[in-house]
Amino acid sequence: MDFVTREAWGAPATSPASFLPSARGIKIHYLGTEYASRAHSWCDDVVRQVRAAHLADVKENYVDIAYTGLVCEHGSVFEGRGTHKRPGANGNAELNARDYAICALLAKEGGGLDEPPRLMLHGLRDAIEWLRRDGDAGSWLGGHRDGYATDCPGDPLYAWVQSGAPRPDEGHGDGPDPAGVYTVQVWDNLSVIARRLDVSWQDLAEVNGIRPPYTIYPGQKLRIPDKGAGPEMPPFPGRSAFVLGKSHPAVLDLDDRLIAKGWTRHHDGNGYQRGARFTEYTRRNCADFQRSRPELRADADGYPGPLTWELLHS
Ligand SMILES: [Zn+2]
Ligand SMILES: [Zn+2]
Repeated sequence: MDFVTREAWGAPATSPASFLPSARGIKIHYLGTEYASRAHSWCDDVVRQVRAAHLADVKENYVDIAYTGLVCEHGSVFEGRGTHKRPGANGNAELNARDYAICALLAKEGGGLDEPPRLMLHGLRDAIEWLRRDGDAGSWLGGHRDGYATDCPGDPLYAWVQSGAPRPDEGHGDGPDPAGVYTVQVWDNLSVIARRLDVSWQDLAEVNGIRPPYTIYPGQKLRIPDKGAGPEMPPFPGRSAFVLGKSHPAVLDLDDRLIAKGWTRHHDGNGYQRGARFTEYTRRNCADFQRSRPELRADADGYPGPLTWELLHS
């Protein structure tokens, strides 16, 4: 399972939601908005946006993102409220006390990405197994629409849920893998596969958007990075290049790397733009990146040092 913890995507480590000792089972949801397929580096931005929208919802008065977890088209499971926390997405207090709520990042019908790709089904299956293992979830499985008047989670996904939410059959369907893709066969370790492919495990993690704790699973498709992939790393310009309110050409490069890696949630309202001035937005986006990396987490002040610089360019 490619599990992205709350801290890794930029939420406080623990949800303030009420304690939930156990659940009857799990309800599957979808976003149900317009939603286009995108590169995985944007998926955590989407999760942060969902949380921000929920926190801003005065009518529902949410204390946190409403879902227990969210699954993107690339199969990553983003921790929402997490295990043993009452979700807020099932419709009312009684329904929320009964089942966990997992949301697929999927559009409404005709709204873009409206059929679940295979990796998403793997991710949803991972999330179901996670909640049964760690969250004391019972075997009941359904959709938001079960017992509540809504289209959620859409017909294609609901059909899969009703068929028992099976893992996609690896032997059939999509044909042979295109060149440059490696399919994980057994429970294996990223560094072992990297050695087999003769690439660095950091490159392999990077091009596939895999974050700590770097879990992969059988059936997962890994894009094989070009040998020597990754941008050329300019020398670290020194800490004096990064002073709030001051301009330095190295800040342009810093912005490029933050944007390439999807750390862009702080901006002036017009989306995060590159610029030579080291702004508070730059600092906060850089701090998000630092918090996502165990090597940097202890000192995530948003000011890049040599190791932040190196990891941003890896
Ligand atoms: Zn729903
Ligand atoms: Zn993704």
